[in-house]
Amino acid sequence: MKIPYTCRICKADGWAELGDGCSEEWCDKLAPLLVCNPCFDLRSKFTSARDKIFRACNAIIRAEQVGLTEDDMGTVRRRCRAALIPATRQYADALREYKKLSTLVWSEDFVQNLMQKPEAAAQQLRFYRDSLSAYVKNQNMQVLAASVATELGV
Ligand SMILES: [Zn+2]
Repeated sequence: MKIPYTCRICKADGWAELGDGCSEEWCDKLAPLLVCNPCFDLRSKFTSARDKIFRACNAIIRAEQVGLTEDDMGTVRRRCRAALIPATRQYADALREYKKLSTLVWSEDFVQNLMQKPEAAAQQLRFYRDSLSAYVKNQNMQVLAASVATELGV
């Protein structure tokens, strides 16, 4: 059975194929929750990047709590940094795609800030996302860079 739907994210209209056993009432409840395939893929890219960032930040926090030797802590930090570089780029790229920007807004500072304050990873990601929205509105790179630095106190 095919039902019409409007993608919850990009608002594009489409048709979804549902199993024949699906009741009309269930279809009515399901339709407003559906997203199109490109939005689903983009959402997966975004959440997988976010998960990788949280995993690396949690590894730094745990290592700091355990009280590793300086050598071991250095190894953990190098590994987490190596994981955070592609993960933050993936995160930035997913948002770039979502915001339909032609330029990737990313710098090593994104990684450095997460390494310095891994316990504030969620706030930093939220701030990046909000700042990117502001950037899209203003199209002003300098405002973004300055406000990120101010917010993070770096
Ligand atoms: Zn969509």
